[in-house]
Amino acid sequence: MIRPSPVVPTIPLDRDGVHHGHLRLPYSRDDSAWGSVMIPICVVRNGSGPTALLTGANHGDEYEGPLALFELARTLDPKQVSGSVVIVPAMNFPAFEAGTRTSPIDKGNMNRSFPGMPDGTVTQKIADYFQRELLPRAEIVLDFHSGGKTLDFLPFCAAHRLPDDAMSKRAFAAVEAFGAPWSMKMTEIDAVGMYDTAAEEMGKVFITTELGGGGTSRAETVRIARRGAANLLKHAEILRGPVEAAPTRWLDMPDGCFSFAEDSGMIEPAVDLGEPIAEGDVLARIWPTGRTGQPPREIRARISGLLIARHFPGLVKAGDCVAVVGCLAE
Ligand code: CA
Repeated sequence: MIRPSPVVPTIPLDRDGVHHGHLRLPYSRDDSAWGSVMIPICVVRNGSGPTALLTGANHGDEYEGPLALFELARTLDPKQVSGSVVIVPAMNFPAFEAGTRTSPIDKGNMNRSFPGMPDGTVTQKIADYFQRELLPRAEIVLDFHSGGKTLDFLPFCAAHRLPDDAMSKRAFAAVEAFGAPWSMKMTEIDAVGMYDTAAEEMGKVFITTELGGGGTSRAETVRIARRGAANLLKHAEILRGPVEAAPTRWLDMPDGCFSFAEDSGMIEPAVDLGEPIAEGDVLARIWPTGRTGQPPREIRARISGLLIARHFPGLVKAGDCVAVVGCLAE
């Protein structure tokens, strides 16, 4: 027998109007014997119609999503809506409150925890609630990401190339409507356990973003996030009004796009985000820090294109992703 989820919503998920509340997840601990994790949720509904599920802080140190979604929850007018908008601004709420990528409770990485477990860790229980209760309600899903404390990205909205061409087309049309300066046909290093994969396997239109990083946000990237969320809802015909047209350029992540450090040390970026790169160009140098007189290790591009992501902190460890090169798509 599959257990029911221990998560209890404090608001109705299927009633007209604006409802602000929590997903309450029982969490017994030293400082609260019968305590709970309280994950903020807002549902805006007006009649039957499609449902959009919008999430931020899947990783707790990424801020454009929460900034867009706390604002949207405060301002979305149900009279302008047909259908439902389910907003969870901070999906991994314990991680968001701690300002960390993973949960301080169980070290759970939300985007490696799907499909989750109703009797697992706190992070697995949240994933399970999305898997079995929230995702099945939605037709269209937007999960905001940025680089967090260790990466920085050229701002893009993305969807994956899927085995089903018609599904890919629908997702790429939603990415185009989002209207980030860059749009990505995305490749993952390892897609196992991702929320993206869970949604795609259910046949949902799923789009995501990488809007910046460094463990903070910028005025420009917050504007992109807010316009993008509204544009997506308009594209899905859930929010009234025309999509606010914004020019975008399409990128690809072909084989050879990722570069990883093989040494630890101090990183010297040799190119900045958005700059053009030819195959063989130096992307970064890693300086040994223990003595003078040692040359830096060079990390060279394996493909031509432009820099779409970089390691953010000034020190790097062996195995860290140092740079990602994207290509303009035809
Ligand atoms: Ca992320």
